[in-house]
Amino acid sequence: MVDQVAGQDGAAPAGEEHAFSAEVGRLLDLVVHALYSEREIFLRELVANAADATDRRRFEALTDAARTLPEDAKVRIDPDKDARRLTISDDGAGMSKDELARNLGTIARSGTRAFGQELDSRKPEDLPKDRPSLIGQFGVGFYAAFMVADHVDVVSRRAGSDEAWRWSSDGKGGFTLSPATRERPGTDIILHIKEDADEFLDAWRLEAIVRKWADHIVWPITIRRDGE
Ligand code: ADP
Ligand code: MG
Repeated sequence: MVDQVAGQDGAAPAGEEHAFSAEVGRLLDLVVHALYSEREIFLRELVANAADATDRRRFEALTDAARTLPEDAKVRIDPDKDARRLTISDDGAGMSKDELARNLGTIARSGTRAFGQELDSRKPEDLPKDRPSLIGQFGVGFYAAFMVADHVDVVSRRAGSDEAWRWSSDGKGGFTLSPATRERPGTDIILHIKEDADEFLDAWRLEAIVRKWADHIVWPITIRRDGE
């Protein structure tokens, strides 16, 4: 934690500033230079995370009734063209404040660590040509969001808790954590879509990506159409 910063509207305190680990910085550097043709995999990563979190909650509920999964648990994809915002929501296990900082600020997962080691072993001048295969081979997980978004907010409420927190980042160096509210446990990943990534605000385009990459997901996935 570094210090308190002013809110985006200059009024309410926005929360604590945290720095990304060096590895995350490197990964983000890589994803922002992703080729246009690779960018759609961000949705595969975020839907996979939503489904994983829903599985996790179902498992946790076995020993903690306070975490019981709602019967209508699903993954929701909600594009808002006017606000240039794409939200991916789930009814999964959610994240506490500490979990937000740990899971979305460092590289905890082994796959991505292997990715870092792979990067270390490459010459910087070779990276541009190696990038597509590296992204495809290792996957970049949550951080893939920054291929299509210049700002990402994550609002999450841990199942079994009343408390919600907002993780917020422009993918450049760090993130802030601030108190939030959320009606039900689960997570919203809110992407502020980049100027050149309009296609990802189109429900039909999103549906095509889901069919291509997320066909095996067992939880229902709904995509909101404009005006619904
Ligand atoms: P991986 O899914 O391989 O672990 P990611 O970079 O995709 O790596 O995600 C990092 C971690 O962030 C996950 O392991 C999980 O703990 C947490 N996370 C990401 N998205 C969600 C979500 N929608 N709900 C709960 N936890 C999440
Ligand atoms: Mg993942």
